[in-house]
Amino acid sequence: MKIQLSDGRSIPIEMHKVRIVQSTQLPPIRRRLAAIQEAGFNTFLLRTRDVFLDMLTDSGTNAMSDNQLAAMMRADDAYAGSESFYRLTDAVKDIFGFDYVIPAHQGRAAEHLLAKAFVKPGDVVLMNYHFTTSKAHIELAGGKVLEIFTDDALITKSDIPFKGNLDLEKFEAAINTYGAEKIAYVRMEATTNLIGGQPFSLENLRQVKELAAKHKIPLVFDGSLISENAYFIQNREKAFGGRSIKEILKELMQYVDIFYMSGRKSAAVRGGMIATNNKDFYNQILPWLPVYEGFATYGGMSTKEIEAMAVGLREMTEQEVASSGADFIEYFVNQLEEKGVPAVTPAGGLACHVDARRFLPHIAQPQYPAGALAAAIYLVSGIRSMERGTISMDRDAQGNDVMSDLELARLAVPRRVYTMSQLDYAADRIAWLHNHRDLVGGLRFVEEPPVLRFFFGRLQPVDGWAENLAQAFINDFGESC
Ligand SMILES: *Cc1c(COP(=O)(O)O)cnc(C)c1O
Repeated sequence: MKIQLSDGRSIPIEMHKVRIVQSTQLPPIRRRLAAIQEAGFNTFLLRTRDVFLDMLTDSGTNAMSDNQLAAMMRADDAYAGSESFYRLTDAVKDIFGFDYVIPAHQGRAAEHLLAKAFVKPGDVVLMNYHFTTSKAHIELAGGKVLEIFTDDALITKSDIPFKGNLDLEKFEAAINTYGAEKIAYVRMEATTNLIGGQPFSLENLRQVKELAAKHKIPLVFDGSLISENAYFIQNREKAFGGRSIKEILKELMQYVDIFYMSGRKSAAVRGGMIATNNKDFYNQILPWLPVYEGFATYGGMSTKEIEAMAVGLREMTEQEVASSGADFIEYFVNQLEEKGVPAVTPAGGLACHVDARRFLPHIAQPQYPAGALAAAIYLVSGIRSMERGTISMDRDAQGNDVMSDLELARLAVPRRVYTMSQLDYAADRIAWLHNHRDLVGGLRFVEEPPVLRFFFGRLQPVDGWAENLAQAFINDFGESC
């Protein structure tokens, strides 16, 4: 929700009351310097006690509602036939219109099952953009990912409303190159996590489905941030301006063969699921469920989370909830832009993304500018962001770094968790860092895992820049903050 003030400004406003809080603390600068060194300059390896605002991710970190918490109390812990599961399937049917639901412990578990069931060695999966775990599962199944985004998608400073659209000409070309039978499925990610939470339009999805159907290619929809994508459609796509989030979701789903989502984002729980109306697809996936996740009526989720997910899915269709993340992210991005900090525009669906290549143009890509920026942001603010750049790409078969299309520091804005003054603080410290950007240098790996290296990899500053940056901070703010 946005609200107009008497001076003409429009601000995001919370349509909820805060009744339970969790305290946080701002460790002083010298502790932050020690903490980031102990963490190998990888923000994943920081402990909560060293973090002031945790903007690592919106995955499983959104504030739950009173109704979600209340629903958890009536969980039915039956191993098989749990009533909690049927409350989830009712919600899925009401909101999305799907008859078959496969619960999974989180989004990547759904991706694992899909890759297991549908990707054969040598297959290609087409997509508007990859997500780290979706790509890993497709490659582990012997498949290859081909991203066919539009040429606008990678322009970080932009006013193009739907940078998550799939390029239809490239889709045609891929069908001609590989042959439709080699294309396991086409995957549409709402919203594109790695390139700034950018949505696709309903019209684009309709056209993708038309072409896919012509060649009998299944359309798989990653709906991890579906209510945000629906909100952007409502705001940015003329034909759907007057439509409710519920109506837009129904409209989207008529083009979808297989839907899956992480329940950790839009639904604000800790879980995931696959849903479809195609019984054959369901039967192909189901046998793998007890092998990897659990029985058909819990799939690796706690029944408490299943109950909360049923409520969370219904709540995410409310206008105030669907807009609650996006409006604050837009505010955050606007604050940064006003201060001259290069952020990805238009503002996206899960986070504020700072463009590290424009922020730190003196750091070459093999020295991981986005990783350096995430470490530097932590150092000057106590805010934990995430690298989304070359560190998040694994090496190729020859052992060479694969340069990422974009180098972003992603500051997730978990829904209903942080306040406007906390966002103002974040924007202020990031702007201070921007004014001292020459002090930031690159990083190099000292410990590097073979797969999804961004999670556990440890790095070092190339030339000991962290101490100099900390000293400049102390000169301006003292040692206590
Ligand atoms: C988070 C996310 C996933 C993975 O979900 P998890 O629940 O974290 O495993 C998959 N796709 C997208 C688009 C996501 O944002």
